[in-house]
Amino acid sequence: MINRVFIVDDDTLTCNLLNTIIEPIFTHVEIFKNPREFLALTLNAEDIILLDLMMPEMDGIEVIRHLAEHRSPARLILVSGYDSGVLHSAETLALSCGLNVINTFTKPINIDVFTCLLISLLNKKTQREFASSNNDKASQGKFDFIPTEQDLRDAIDNKQLILYYQPQINMKTECLHGAEVLVRWLHPEFGLIFPDKFIALAEQTGLIEQLSEEVIHLAIKQSVHWQKLNRATRLSINISAQNITSLKLPEQLRMLVKKYEIDPSMIVLELTESALMDSEVTSLDIFTRFRLKGFQLSIDDFGTGYSSLSQLHKMPFTELKIDQSFVTNMKQEKESKAIVETCIMLAHKLHMEVVAEGIEDKDTWNLLLAEGCDVAQGYYIARPMPADQFDKWQFKG
Ligand code: C2E
Ligand code: CA
Ligand code: CA
Repeated sequence: MINRVFIVDDDTLTCNLLNTIIEPIFTHVEIFKNPREFLALTLNAEDIILLDLMMPEMDGIEVIRHLAEHRSPARLILVSGYDSGVLHSAETLALSCGLNVINTFTKPINIDVFTCLLISLLNKKTQREFASSNNDKASQGKFDFIPTEQDLRDAIDNKQLILYYQPQINMKTECLHGAEVLVRWLHPEFGLIFPDKFIALAEQTGLIEQLSEEVIHLAIKQSVHWQKLNRATRLSINISAQNITSLKLPEQLRMLVKKYEIDPSMIVLELTESALMDSEVTSLDIFTRFRLKGFQLSIDDFGTGYSSLSQLHKMPFTELKIDQSFVTNMKQEKESKAIVETCIMLAHKLHMEVVAEGIEDKDTWNLLLAEGCDVAQGYYIARPMPADQFDKWQFKG
C-alpha cells in the first residue's frame, strides 16, 4: 500500500513549503485548505496527516475530535503557529482519544528535523533506496547524509560511535567540575556526524537501547582510564526517555560500575524534562533506585518541558540543568534572564546543584555568577572535544 500524505492547512505559504519537502519523498501528496473536504476521505493506517491547529473554518481540535469519532488509524503530525503549550495540549488530547500522533511541530518548521521524520516513516526498502540516491547527491553538496536504521545498526556494531567530552566548571572555584559525554558517529565516508542526525532515529527504531549501552560502556572505560591517571572526572551521560522503561536498568548499571570499580557518584545520568512526562510511576521507581545505588541524577533542558513543581519535588534529582536557550538569550532578553534566575532559586530551595549550559561569552558567565549559579558549561569555556584533547585542556577564564 502506498503512503498518502495529506496537508490540512489554510495557509498557502506553509502548504507550498511542506509540499516542496514532502514531494521528493512521498509520491502522493494532497493539500486541503478546507478541513471538511479532507474529513470526507476514508483513511488507512499508512496515511500521514499534517494538521494545522489554527484554521478559520474548522479548527484543528475539531478535526481531531472528528478523526477520533471515526477511529482514524492514520498517523498524525500536529503543526501550530501558536506556542508549544497549545501544541502540547492538543497532542495530549489527541493521544487520549486514541489517535496515532507521531510528532508535533511549531512554525517555522525545522526542515531538517521534519525531513528526518518523513524518511523514518518510509518502509525500509524505500528508505534504503532514498538514502542511497541522496548519498550520490551529497557529493554534489545538495543533500545531507540521511542514515537509515540499518546504517545506524551497522555503525553501533562496527564501533563507529565515539565520545566527545565538554568540560563543566565550578563557577566559584573555577576548577573542573566534570564533563558531559556527547556521542558522535565517525562515518568512514561522511566524517563526523552529530547526534541531531541519529538520536531521533535511534529512539524511533528502538536502537536507542544499544546506542546508550555502547555510550555507557565507552564512558565507563574512559572513566577507568582517567581514574588510573589520578584524574577521576565526574561524567554526565545523556539518557533517553525510552531507556527508562526497563526496570532492570539501575541494577545493570550498578553491576557495570562494580565490575570496573567506579564510584557511582562520579556518574550523572541526564534525563530531559520531557522524559519525566512519560509513565510517571515507572520513572519514579527507576530514578529512586538509581539514587539508592549512588548515581547522581540531573534534569536536563529544564524550562522546556511541562513538569509541575510537585513532580520536581517528588523526583530525586540532584542537579538541574537550565535549558541553553534561556542561558544564551539572558543577556538581551529580560524574560530569559527572569527564567534563569527563577530556575537557580528553585533548584537551590530544592537542594539541587544548578548547571547553566550554552554559555557563549564572559558577560553571560558574569550574570550567572552574580545569580549564584553553581556550574558552567558552554562554548565560552570549551567546545566538546575528544578524550585525548580533554586530557591536555585547561580552563583559561
Ligand atoms: P544536550 O544534552 O542539550 O547537549 C548539549 C548540546 O549543546 C551539545 O550538542 C553541545 O555540543 C551543545 N552546546 C554546548 N555548549 C554550547 C554553547 O555554548 N552554544 C551552543 N550553541 N551549543 C552548545 P550536541 O553534542 O550536538 O548534542 C545534541 C543533543 O544530542 C544533546 O543535547 C543530547 O540531547 C543528544 N545526545 C548527545 N549525546 C547523546 C547520547 O549519548 N545519548 C542520548 N540519548 N542523547 C545524546
Ligand atoms: Ca544533556
Ligand atoms: Ca541540554
